[in-house]
Amino acid sequence: MSCDRTFYVTTPIYYVNDVPHIGHAYTTIAADTLALHHRMAGEKVLFCTGTDEHGQKIQSTAQAKGMTAQELADRTVENFRRLWEVLHITHDDFIRTTEPRHEKVVQTIFTRLMEKGDIYKGTYEGLYCVPCETYVPESQMGEGKTCPDCKRPLQPMTEESYFFRISRYQEPLLRYYEENPDAIQPRSRYNEVVSFIRSGLNDQSVSRTTLKWGIPVPGDERHVVYVWFDALINYLTVAGYPDDEERLRTFWPAVRHLVGKDIIRFHCVVWPAMLLALGLNPPRQVFAHGWWTVEGEKMSKSKGNVVDPFEMVDLYGVDAFRYFLLREVAFGNDGDFSELALVQRVNSDLANDLGNLLNRTLQMVERFQGGQVLPGGAADPLDEELLDAAEVTRKAYSDAMERMAFDEALKALWALIGRGNKYIDATMPWKLGKEGQTERLASVLSVLCTVLRQAALLVSPVMPATARTMWRQLGLAGTPEDAGFAAAEKPFPAGVTVAKGEVLFPRIDVESWKEAKAARERDRNLDPDPGEHEEEIAIDDFRKVELRVGRIVAAEAVPKADKLFKIDVDLGYERRTIVSGIREYYKAEELVGKTIIVVCNLKPVKLRGVESRGMLLAAESCRDDSLALLTLDGAMALGSRIH
Ligand SMILES: [Zn+2]
Repeated sequence: MSCDRTFYVTTPIYYVNDVPHIGHAYTTIAADTLALHHRMAGEKVLFCTGTDEHGQKIQSTAQAKGMTAQELADRTVENFRRLWEVLHITHDDFIRTTEPRHEKVVQTIFTRLMEKGDIYKGTYEGLYCVPCETYVPESQMGEGKTCPDCKRPLQPMTEESYFFRISRYQEPLLRYYEENPDAIQPRSRYNEVVSFIRSGLNDQSVSRTTLKWGIPVPGDERHVVYVWFDALINYLTVAGYPDDEERLRTFWPAVRHLVGKDIIRFHCVVWPAMLLALGLNPPRQVFAHGWWTVEGEKMSKSKGNVVDPFEMVDLYGVDAFRYFLLREVAFGNDGDFSELALVQRVNSDLANDLGNLLNRTLQMVERFQGGQVLPGGAADPLDEELLDAAEVTRKAYSDAMERMAFDEALKALWALIGRGNKYIDATMPWKLGKEGQTERLASVLSVLCTVLRQAALLVSPVMPATARTMWRQLGLAGTPEDAGFAAAEKPFPAGVTVAKGEVLFPRIDVESWKEAKAARERDRNLDPDPGEHEEEIAIDDFRKVELRVGRIVAAEAVPKADKLFKIDVDLGYERRTIVSGIREYYKAEELVGKTIIVVCNLKPVKLRGVESRGMLLAAESCRDDSLALLTLDGAMALGSRIH
């Protein structure tokens, strides 16, 4: 289907206000699988992901957390980078919209479009929430025109703004989509977008004067570029626009954007219009994938059912997680995430079908041929049938991958794996071995290894680590990624020695899994609230706190204060009195004799008429209201410093 030899695939750039969840993982795994597939098909691939770091939401969140927007972005971006590492994502570039390379491109584009008259200055009118410092579009307003966040009434407001003359591109866009009916997938989204464009396009505000956290409009620095206009341009920055013409020529026409269905208008209306204004092609394809519910319910923080991709990888392994997401639902549809369904797929598809085929084959190669794959004799009709099926599978798989129909590609491959297992039952190699039919046996095992090698190649974009393990166990040199799909067409090299290792996917015992899951859920419900975290301090700040070992020598209640004890502490070099609010938790006689830790250089204070010189250290539970004094294990001289 695709005859171009380059392939540029992008994920949306993720907003740094977010904790990475299954949705981010899904899009990025899909993009990674496409990138790996096209690389293995011998194409030149550019695969990019990144983060969207400007805008009002980031500015407000950062303010609420007492940090700068840049600090917030720097911190959150690490969560995404770490997740991509854990999920074995092989992006070629990771772009952050706060990078100078990107800011420069945004400003260049803004200037070019102004010069063309496609961006002009006008007045923006809207309903504005003053405390939240944000315009609220009609679709998001609460009852009686109130702010959806703080519920306060909205004020009409006008401000000077730059506008993108998108109205000029209504007709060219419609023409483009008429000529390129595959440019938006799935088809239902195409129809939606085209009818939206037909209903008429209003010029879009592309700057703001109400916030500071953004890229300054060139020549008019009271304005920052609106975050969406800035973010979409990332795809061009990565492709080398405007200076690296060679790179742009190589990758630009070949771009595919994977997006969630909520951001399709920006990608299929605003973005292609911006590109047409710049004299560039709209993206070859925008593919809108669906959303995940969890065990039949909408995922939400308040329900506590947000699927944490880090946890899924910990529990089931990265490849099982990748396989499940791509196999379970067609890419354009919504899907339901259920751990039980994942466990069942591990047991049936991965352990039973794929794992068994590999394991049985290698076992017989070791048992009957000393681990060597030997050249076979003349092919039997059964052999030919299986090898023909393998060839048909390659084609079906590749067609499906081109259409981003991951589920179909995997179904086709698993049909072949099923045939492989049936082929073993029909040819009965163990019987051939016992009967000494060595030549026929060699043929059968060689056919099986050929099919397994192909399975390793085709499974590689979805489960790269599993494919490499299969490759190694089959005794093949290099990696499936380096060998590429072309390797499937060559005969299996005779004479290699297989190396049966661990089973690929151990079966999960469903009963004990259920118990473990119930225990996990119990723990999660008990999950402590750690409370507010303090700002970072330097080691020198910590050193200022003088901590020493002391022993409680006396404790008595402070009159008229039912929470306070007056405690006498021996520090070795001196004795002091400390007033401490721990009477709810300890009796006086329990305290006497305890070796504790004292903050010695705290400014003295008078509490209920008693001067307190110092402080005891105690841990306060984040689950319930219990409290425990910090005591020392082991004997230490009183007055010893604690570091
Ligand atoms: Zn508000």
